Amino acid sequence: MTARSLNGRALARQRNQALKSRIAALPRPPGLAVVLVGEDPASQIYVRRKGVVAGRLGIAHQQIDLPADATQEALLAVIDRLNDDTSVDGILVQLPLPRHLDATVVMDRIDPAKDADGLHPTNTGLLVQGRAGLIACTPHGCMHLLRESGEELSGRDAVVIGRSNIVGRPMAALLEQANCTVTLCHSRTRDLESIVRRSDVVVAAVGRPNLIRGEWIKPGAVVIDVGMNRLEDGSLAGDVFFDEAREVAGAITPVPGGVGPMTIAMLMENTVRAAEARLGRDAM
Ligand code: NAD
Repeated sequence: MTARSLNGRALARQRNQALKSRIAALPRPPGLAVVLVGEDPASQIYVRRKGVVAGRLGIAHQQIDLPADATQEALLAVIDRLNDDTSVDGILVQLPLPRHLDATVVMDRIDPAKDADGLHPTNTGLLVQGRAGLIACTPHGCMHLLRESGEELSGRDAVVIGRSNIVGRPMAALLEQANCTVTLCHSRTRDLESIVRRSDVVVAAVGRPNLIRGEWIKPGAVVIDVGMNRLEDGSLAGDVFFDEAREVAGAITPVPGGVGPMTIAMLMENTVRAAEARLGRDAM
């Protein structure tokens, strides 16, 4: 059996297309500000892609570049200014930040109503309680890909591999809310293989190329590969050994072209949602 490939690019295009009428209904274009500190080449690519998609959708996009040696105070001052700017609905600080900066303090400073990445503790708390907030973009995109697979999620065993605040933890919460029985694995997990073997849904967010082998995958399982690992030859690999896993899984996301485009689509949705909430509120 060869798994169905879950095409994140096509799904992201559909989602973006569906946003256009919501954007057109707003009294002004939604505003997204992306802050990039330093010159990490991967971050520069991600930020550029976000700007291109925003531009295509008619989202007013601004990029604020700070030097790699920017102080914490300088970065917080930029966030304060964006929090106060009434034309800005969504703020994203591209991670990772240079080591001398404290990402937790920086993320906490963003107005939760403008938290386009959905990573502020207020939004994370709302997510864990199953309440409406701005949802972390990557896990939210993964949920759409899972639904796209057409597989019933309720009652299924799901494993999330990786417990970061950006991906693994919110992913586990979303799967639990979709009525999966969730196991959250991490670097101290004993016998990852046997947990993966019994799982109907596998979400890998580790950052280690080809860690999950095809023979671990339960036949017919849905596999979402969040990992983005740059190999020595310059190519990209996921955390799942794709060529092996596609022979066993029911559906699988490719890398690239799976989760990545959906993360950007969810950033656009969060920005539009934030704009709708602000402009609706302002109008009252
Ligand atoms: P992270 O480094 O913050 O977290 C990695 C997690 O993996 C940790 O919780 C750690 O405990 C766990 N881990 C490490 N080794 C393990 C092992 N051998 N077995 C089980 N668990 C192990 O990483 P992150 O920010 O969550 O990102 C994970 C991956 O996802 C990276 O490759 C990153 O580039 C990618 N990513 C992709 C997108 C996207 O849009 N496609 C977005 C975010 C992250």
